Amino acid sequence: MARLDLHLHTTHSDGSLPPAEVLALAHKAGVTALAITDHDITTGIPEALEAGAGFGIEIIPGVEISSRFGENELHILGYFLDWQDPALNARLAGLRDSRHRRNPQIVERLRALGCDLTYDEVRELAGTESVGRPHIARVLMEKGYVKSAKEAFDRFLAQGKPAYVPRDLPEPAEAMAWIRAAKGVPVLAHPLWAKQNDAGLFTLCGRLKAEGLGGMEVHYSTHNPKQTAELLDIATRLDLLVTGGSDFHGMTKPDIEVGVGKGGLTVPVKLLDPLRKAASA
Ligand SMILES: [Zn+2]
Ligand SMILES: [Zn+2]
Repeated sequence: MARLDLHLHTTHSDGSLPPAEVLALAHKAGVTALAITDHDITTGIPEALEAGAGFGIEIIPGVEISSRFGENELHILGYFLDWQDPALNARLAGLRDSRHRRNPQIVERLRALGCDLTYDEVRELAGTESVGRPHIARVLMEKGYVKSAKEAFDRFLAQGKPAYVPRDLPEPAEAMAWIRAAKGVPVLAHPLWAKQNDAGLFTLCGRLKAEGLGGMEVHYSTHNPKQTAELLDIATRLDLLVTGGSDFHGMTKPDIEVGVGKGGLTVPVKLLDPLRKAASA
């Protein structure tokens, strides 16, 4: 069935497959248009555009930026942005620098906990400038300290666990302004991560809309039908665009597949044109 997937990660951030391989999986899954949304980096987009032309899949330039939300994070997706915009890329480079300040501190904590690894090993495995905790998790897996990325997060890397170190993050309004300045549409990723009830999420999204939010990721791999319906209701009441995607990462999230998520995901093709129109408005 024809479908979209507007949330995908590649080896340019913490995904385990390069863009061309993600595109091949998308083609198999019936995806007609997709967005590469690597964390804090746009270098995967040219490779995706080239592979997309071969498969006849439209590539929407995208990015995912983490922002501060109290002790928690809000992730802001940007769509149809000018991915070559120098100001945007300078800001993303600043975010990657903050990762390079944080990651060695995480590695130091892991070493103190008895895990023998170095940040050079993590950077080598990552092979990109956008280095994150999933790369650290993979080194821990390869060295046999954990059996899965999930175990690495549950035991060491997640917030509140012994190797957790907070990162300097922009405010949501800042991240959205950067995306708007690059002619993109800011969209709240996986809204349930904000851990709000319906009323709280409605209030939060209303505030974000006043600060520049254009849409909400209603369709997502882990949403059940009830949650999808509730989010759709909030998006409709706030006149936010509706988007969706798998948040595919490859082996870091092995139960999530391109296009179909855990099997039940379908992001309707009709959602694309309103998003495109909003970007060119
Ligand atoms: Zn995210
Ligand atoms: Zn993501």
